[in-house]
Amino acid sequence: METADAPVVVVGGGVVGLCVAHYLASADVPVSVAERSALGSGASWGNAGWVCLSHSAPVPAPGVTHYALRSLGRPESPLYLRPPLDPRFVRWLWRLWRSSSEPEFRRGYAAVAALNAPTFELFEGLAEAGVDTTLQRPGLVHAFLSASEARHHLDVQREMAVGHYDLPDEVTLAPDARRLDPALSPEVQAAYVVRGEGVVDPVRLVESLAEVVKKAGGAVDVDVTVTGFRSSGGRVTAVRTTVGELPCRAVVIAAGMWSQSLVAELGVRLPMQAGKGYSFSVELDPQPEHALYFGDRRIVASPMNGATRIAGTMELSGNNRKLDWRRIVAIAKGSTHYLGQWFDDPDDLPRRIRDPWVGGRPFLSDGLPLIDRTPSHDNVFVATGHGMLGVTLGPSTGKALADYFLTGRRPEVLNAFRFR
Ligand SMILES: Cc1cc2nc3c(=O)[nH]c(=O)nc-3n(C[C@H](O)[C@H](O)[C@H](O)COP(=O)(O)OP(=O)(O)OC[C@H]3O[C@@H](n4cnc5c(N)ncnc54)[C@H](O)[C@@H]3O)c2cc1C
Repeated sequence: METADAPVVVVGGGVVGLCVAHYLASADVPVSVAERSALGSGASWGNAGWVCLSHSAPVPAPGVTHYALRSLGRPESPLYLRPPLDPRFVRWLWRLWRSSSEPEFRRGYAAVAALNAPTFELFEGLAEAGVDTTLQRPGLVHAFLSASEARHHLDVQREMAVGHYDLPDEVTLAPDARRLDPALSPEVQAAYVVRGEGVVDPVRLVESLAEVVKKAGGAVDVDVTVTGFRSSGGRVTAVRTTVGELPCRAVVIAAGMWSQSLVAELGVRLPMQAGKGYSFSVELDPQPEHALYFGDRRIVASPMNGATRIAGTMELSGNNRKLDWRRIVAIAKGSTHYLGQWFDDPDDLPRRIRDPWVGGRPFLSDGLPLIDRTPSHDNVFVATGHGMLGVTLGPSTGKALADYFLTGRRPEVLNAFRFR
């Protein structure tokens, strides 16, 4: 069944799967992407589109579990816990707590920063290869309602930034702070800019990656669900799909929050939960010129396609994509502190905003991606768990995984992202 000429089957047509497919196809490896719905229809759809070096921190930071527990039953909280009745969730939370020690956090941060280091260079390479990355680099303004919070944030970032990106020496205080971006309101008390940080239209990026993969001779099939695998002698020889079996040379599982059940088919456990986030688009006057981070509320805003995409929250309520309207209202209300009173009554929101969306960030209990060969099958690789950073880390993940596949040796930068 398995032949040297059969393609590498990539499961998942999100940003991560398509980046892997791109780097394999550009090294003349036959690839075939199977996507169960539309391209980018998972977490890669309504995200904020940031491509950034300055937000490489894993979610399990010191104090995160305490913070999560305090959010129980408070749907307006940036991190919202509504625990499903599932022992796997309790185990996952326990592991999250164990990963949130200071040394673990720093190790994770350094590993993500190293993976992230070539990101902008790789985006340039994608553009040279014909991908319409849509990347703009307007910079990222961090805005705060309290000067002490802004200083604290800048100090923490400064410690982590060394060798990766430049930071200003001081925060800019009100009334000058709001001048860092025309959309900021007078309520903003302090702000600072990280220059060069970028924003993409994630849907266009994904579609264009698929076009370039096809031009290089790869196949990209939508409405094809992978349902299982045919194995022999510790290798997968074919992928079972809703349209029949696909013989394969190797498999890359890049199925976002759905990766867990596929990997389970191979007898491997992944401690994964969906970290649900919400977004919507709105026309503001003036629109932001930069990517904006509203630090005290952990809400973000991006200029995108002539509108402003506002996004936020980390909701842990099980592996589903149920949209809780209260979370949209909470983000909209939170954003008014930074952007001014752009709506009067939450009842007006349905006609004021468009594309309300919820997506499940693939989130492993230690907050780090998993980019590795499976322990069970020699020719099966997994690329998932990118949490809040899949758009940013898609190219570096794709490049490193393609190198792993081509050389048979795990690149050093992937050591922190192996099965654990
Ligand atoms: C609100 C929000 C804002 C965000 N903002 C940013 C940001 O600004 N910058 C950033 O870098 N990241 C951001 N992220 C995170 C980013 O969106 C994700 O990390 C990234 O999209 C994950 O990509 P993926 O390809 O791993 O998964 P997905 O995009 O979810 O792709 C997985 C794909 O696999 C398919 N699939 C699943 N099962 C099967 C199967 N059995 N057979 C075939 N196909 C299957 C799915 O349909 C899906 O299309 C944000 C996330 C959210 C929710």
